[in-house]
Amino acid sequence: MQMMKRVRPIVGVLRASLPSLLSVIESLGGFVAANAIVLLALAFIVTLGKSAPAVDSLPATARITFEVAERLGTLVVTLWMVWRGLFLFFAFGDHHDTRAWDLAIGIVQRVVLFVASLLAIRYFGSVIADTVAYMLANPGTSVATLLGIAVIAASYFLVPKVQSREVVGVAYRATGVAVAGRRMPRLAEDIRRTATHEAGHALLYAALPSLPDGFKVKVLESVAPSDEYRGFVRVDKFPSAATEGFLRWCMYLDLAGMAAELLACGDRADGARGDMSRWIAVARAYLLAGLGELFYADSGTPEHVAHNRLVLNTLRAEHEEALFEFFDANLDLLRELRDRLLEARELGADEVAPYLARVTFTSTVRRLRAEEV
Ligand SMILES: [Zn+2]
Repeated sequence: MQMMKRVRPIVGVLRASLPSLLSVIESLGGFVAANAIVLLALAFIVTLGKSAPAVDSLPATARITFEVAERLGTLVVTLWMVWRGLFLFFAFGDHHDTRAWDLAIGIVQRVVLFVASLLAIRYFGSVIADTVAYMLANPGTSVATLLGIAVIAASYFLVPKVQSREVVGVAYRATGVAVAGRRMPRLAEDIRRTATHEAGHALLYAALPSLPDGFKVKVLESVAPSDEYRGFVRVDKFPSAATEGFLRWCMYLDLAGMAAELLACGDRADGARGDMSRWIAVARAYLLAGLGELFYADSGTPEHVAHNRLVLNTLRAEHEEALFEFFDANLDLLRELRDRLLEARELGADEVAPYLARVTFTSTVRRLRAEEV
């Protein structure tokens, strides 16, 4: 008991601080990704800095390379600091904090890379000396080689600048997506609910004169957080017609998943966002075509908005009522198709057709005539 008392607040604090902890890890990860090269250089300096050959021990040509790089590098970094410092204090008075921070980061980045470069010269002193000696012995070949390198370098610089941090950043985000996108197995209960939902959509296809090509109904056994669907009914080409009967069927189709869930499971889950927005889109088209109640195209005034909302809600309630009646008449069939879908996870036109042939139509959910589609 004592233990529980102590543990609970800790769990509470952990839970409360988890989002901010995650965001800290996220921004830390972003920083590491953006500064990968600088951090590698820093690791190089820390681990191998002491063991690098002394400058005095380098071959003469490598020593000159080192000294030139050291002086030139010091000059470049100093000039950069002075230049940015002047900007900071004279040109951009407002944003002292962020710009001073950027300047500090910029200085650290440049100093680290500079020191790492000097260290590299010390490490590769003999290679440099050999290269210089070879160049002196073979001036023709060397000039030709340098020219080749210059051409490649020029073509590289002509490419729109892609900074290494961006490349690393993209790789980091891709890794993040790969991690976040890991597929998780679903609970049997969830899969069963999705199967009911999709079987509900599927049964509505019985109303069409013929099943569209490529008809397929599927239930997903695992989901990634980025997945929009937990299951679906798909056809190659969705039929399109502007007849009242067809538009009404489209709206029934959109609400069928939710209605089937409600009737067979007693409630409905959140997997129907797409269904609802599709229903609203068709309902607007249907009402604006004058097929239902008066509906305002411009919902400019509060009165029009209130009126349109009432019309949409009434229409939706009417459709739900029609679907409850339909699924009530086909409840056993719905369950049979759901169980078959749970077994197979995916059903094609040939497998679903026998179920559709057994559908009982109602006064509202009726078979469409060929000329209506
Ligand atoms: Zn649905």
